Amino acid sequence: MTPLGDSTICLAFGTASVSVVSSKPGGRATTCHPKLSTKVIHKNWKDLVINVMPTATDLSPDTKLLYETWLSKQGYAPRSGQEEMMSFIARVLRQETNRIGVVEAGTGTGKTIAYCIPAIQEARRVNKKVVIVTSTVVLQRQLLGGELQQLADIFSPSIRFGIVKGRGRYACLHKISKQERASSNQTVDLFGEELPSVADRRAASKLSNLFYSQGWDGDMDELDVSLNNRQTAAFTTDSKGCHRQTCEFAKECPYYRVRDQISEFDVVVTNYHLLLAAGLAGVELLPEPSECIYIFDEVHKLPEIVMGTTSRRVNTPGLMNLVDASETFINRLISSVQPDHPLDQVQHDLLEQVSKARPNIDMLAEQLSALAIAGDGIDQADSKNRFVMGMVADSLRRILEALGISFSGMYAALDQIRGKLLKAAQDKETWLSPKILEAARMKAGQLQGETETATALFEAWNMSGQEAAARWFEAVPDGWELQNAPVEVGKILNDFMWSKAYGLICTSASIYSSNGFDHFKQTTGLLNPEPHVLRIDSPFDFRNQVEFQIIDLGFKNPNDDGFDSEAAKLIPRLLKNNQSGLVIFTSWRALEATYAQLPESFSSDCLKQGDYSTQQTLVKHRAAIDEGQRSFIFGLDSYREGVDLPGDYCQHVIIMKIPFPVPSDPVLKTKKETLGLGGGSDGWRQYDLPEAAMKLFQGCGRLMRNETDSGTISVLDSRLHTKSYAKALQTPLPDFDMKFYQLRDQTQVSH
Ligand code: SF4
Repeated sequence: MTPLGDSTICLAFGTASVSVVSSKPGGRATTCHPKLSTKVIHKNWKDLVINVMPTATDLSPDTKLLYETWLSKQGYAPRSGQEEMMSFIARVLRQETNRIGVVEAGTGTGKTIAYCIPAIQEARRVNKKVVIVTSTVVLQRQLLGGELQQLADIFSPSIRFGIVKGRGRYACLHKISKQERASSNQTVDLFGEELPSVADRRAASKLSNLFYSQGWDGDMDELDVSLNNRQTAAFTTDSKGCHRQTCEFAKECPYYRVRDQISEFDVVVTNYHLLLAAGLAGVELLPEPSECIYIFDEVHKLPEIVMGTTSRRVNTPGLMNLVDASETFINRLISSVQPDHPLDQVQHDLLEQVSKARPNIDMLAEQLSALAIAGDGIDQADSKNRFVMGMVADSLRRILEALGISFSGMYAALDQIRGKLLKAAQDKETWLSPKILEAARMKAGQLQGETETATALFEAWNMSGQEAAARWFEAVPDGWELQNAPVEVGKILNDFMWSKAYGLICTSASIYSSNGFDHFKQTTGLLNPEPHVLRIDSPFDFRNQVEFQIIDLGFKNPNDDGFDSEAAKLIPRLLKNNQSGLVIFTSWRALEATYAQLPESFSSDCLKQGDYSTQQTLVKHRAAIDEGQRSFIFGLDSYREGVDLPGDYCQHVIIMKIPFPVPSDPVLKTKKETLGLGGGSDGWRQYDLPEAAMKLFQGCGRLMRNETDSGTISVLDSRLHTKSYAKALQTPLPDFDMKFYQLRDQTQVSH
């Protein structure tokens, strides 16, 4: 028992020795779940700074042996944080129930090895598979070529592992062959789809040669040939475009080759999009969750990915185009085939639904216009008309229901057409030519995908009152766009993953927030049972290697008039002595406004988000630095996390504004209403503040990527120093030596 003021801690963690270093409100905490320790008694135990120091015996002998073998093969020294994480994961996965752990592992912990060793060991013991899920191709590549490769022979028997990606990340040999052989006499096919150009045919030949000469395995992420977006789409396919049963390339198909091997892998590496898409659609791609130990790496991105995967949007002009395109498609198809075709009934069904849909789309647009004017039950902000609590107006119900029936009817008819085309191909029926069959198959698949999205949106809007979601509409040329986004991401994850997985470890370098792990648990639904948690500090020396400055430009809020122009003057000064830097904004408006006012002598060294893809920007940036030139990236959220610019690639990070959520965001507003948080300070403290703290932490994490890195972080939002909530924002940050400057002290500002 360790007396600590008026409270007492009694903590035991296996054979680990535990020492209480100090306690301070908002201090950094390395904590473990109460159930894993014997007992924790403190009225605010999360605020304690606790160092759990594993002893040599804290790892099981087997784990220790594997770890030491790996260390000696790689020539590395043991790291206490890595051992601690390994030990924690081993313990979590050996629990009788609730094998769910959340680990924030500071940059430099070496978390990949720390989760791979105990997870693979435990999976072997209980005869499960390890599924490692990440969000970036970079990390997936790193895993396959790095840690998993290094571990393969350390385990006995050796581990088998592989990567599984979505179908669209592999080449479709059928489509490549079709492009390669396309005739040069026509530019569009029977259904108005663009036919390959000379350049497309050349690119297709190149890919085909590469594949058949075994210079490439069909993985589009590994392709060393530059393609434009149209070509990438033309050389890949989706579930609707694939016809495996009749495909002459099925045996060598890159996608199916990987898919068919999954059952042989001990460790499967995949991405969140695929896991979600397959899980939500009930596609049996990966083993059942109850047969898997999941590692969710870069897990801080998960809520956003779920949101993106499950959100739907359609617009009324687009719906009308879809209806017209479906009618044109069936009529052209019928007029181009032999009289003995089997499409009469399905043509009738499709056209019947098309004719019913048209007046309802017009009525939908009219009703939305009326609602936008009347404003009843609608919250209007930033040109968005949001249904309060996500409750769609009653006046729309009947129209939505009718449209749902029409579009699902169209979907069914298109599905039947695809079935008949498949049969025609299989049985070599003669009522249509192979060329028309191929074009019709592609077009039917495309239309079916679009009708599916529309049907899903109508259903989701009709579920208001039963399923919590943000629902809103906004004007587009000639009509309205309708959107639906879930507000209970945690419920979705719980239904399809948390409640079913055998074991689960969530990890990232930035999970912690102003309210500890609570924000993460709430946004991901990891609440019942409470996961075991651990926080491991980064081993980097932030205090001595990072100059952290908060600079007051004389504005209470960076949104105030004049801030952008003052910032545009200051940024070149701040970066004067740096070769590289990253300037992170929270809005396009601020990015454009500031960038436009930069002196030309400076902006010529800058790369602005939107001018190139993120990948191209990073390649250009690195190339410039390698050539000894200066390069500064100006970007938004996508540069806040997940961008790895070690050493000289990033000497200075400038954070323009504390990344609070946008208050008018319809999803945020509906979420707060649903959670009963309201729009006041309670909701702000419980949701906005922790969200901003986590994002600020992520932005700061761009600077120190390696132990030897050093540099400057400048935050141009004085609220990080002046406001009462500043302490809460600073809580998750590493141990920076923070300095505060006012612009009138510009001479003091670090160059
Ligand atoms: S099986 Fe499907 S994805 Fe593979 S080559 Fe054939 S059509 Fe393309």
